Amino acid sequence: MTAQLIKGAEIAAQIREELKQEIATLKSKHNVVPGLVTVLVGADPASQVYVGQKEKTSKELGIYSERYDLPANTTQAELLKLIDKLNKDPKINGILVQLPLPKHLKEAEVLYAINPKKDVDGFHPVNVGKMMIGEPDYLPCTPAGIQQLLIRTGVKIDGAEVVVVGRSNIVGKPIANILLQKAPGANATVTICHTGTRDLAFHTRRADILIVASGKPKTVTGDMVKEGVVVIDVGVNQIGMTKDGKRILAGDVDFESVKEKAKAITPVPGGVGPMTITMLMVNTVRAAKLAAGLT
Ligand code: NAP
Repeated sequence: MTAQLIKGAEIAAQIREELKQEIATLKSKHNVVPGLVTVLVGADPASQVYVGQKEKTSKELGIYSERYDLPANTTQAELLKLIDKLNKDPKINGILVQLPLPKHLKEAEVLYAINPKKDVDGFHPVNVGKMMIGEPDYLPCTPAGIQQLLIRTGVKIDGAEVVVVGRSNIVGKPIANILLQKAPGANATVTICHTGTRDLAFHTRRADILIVASGKPKTVTGDMVKEGVVVIDVGVNQIGMTKDGKRILAGDVDFESVKEKAKAITPVPGGVGPMTITMLMVNTVRAAKLAAGLT
């Protein structure tokens, strides 16, 4: 069996096109313009790229965008003061503080200071709790993107055996939670694996849908999956550099051996990655609609 490629870039482009229409209608009918602010502390090159992409995508879609580039020695009090100002700013519907923050800053305190209504990353405990009880305002972006990849590829989630490898707060736990809800695009039987799991292959071989977010290349190989599995590879690992200085990336799944047995699989890059920023835009539009009483 040669696997169908789940092309995240194409699905993300389709969602952005839908959003563009929705944003135009919000403006013309309701005079509502969604606003997103990004806050970057320090000059980490990867974070600068991510923030730049978020700003560019916002502008392309017609989202009002602001960007704060703060020096690496910004104090906790200064950052909290800025968040307080943004919490009160009616032009801003979504506040995104780019992680990781420099070591001297208390990340949790910063994230919890964001008004949950403007927490478009979905990391605030209020939003985590709402997701858990099946009444989400915002789903965290990468897991929401994974769910959309499955839905829009026509994968049957209802009743499926889903196995998630990884239990981080940003990928593993939330995607498991989203897919087990008694809701459309969910209702799966979910197993979560981690480094304490005794026999990883026992679980991965049972999966109809296998989601791998371990942060380690080749965590799952072809002998660990069954024929016909759908595989979502969340991993992004730099495994080398090309001669002309470009990063060579690989996922957490051994693509070559797994694709021989899978029905469908996400490539890395071009699978989950492009969905994450797009779902941030989805959340920002939702935040604007919630603020305007339009949902
Ligand atoms: P993380 O915080 O490092 O968590 C990794 C999880 O995998 C942990 O729960 C760990 O278990 C588990 N794990 C590691 N090795 C394992 C093994 N051999 N068997 C079973 N479980 C194992 O990583 P993360 O933040 O969730 O990210 C995961 C991957 O996704 C990374 O490659 C990251 O770069 C990528 N990512 C991509 C996007 C995107 O937009 N494409 C977004 C976020 C993350 P323990 O809990 O026991 O340590």
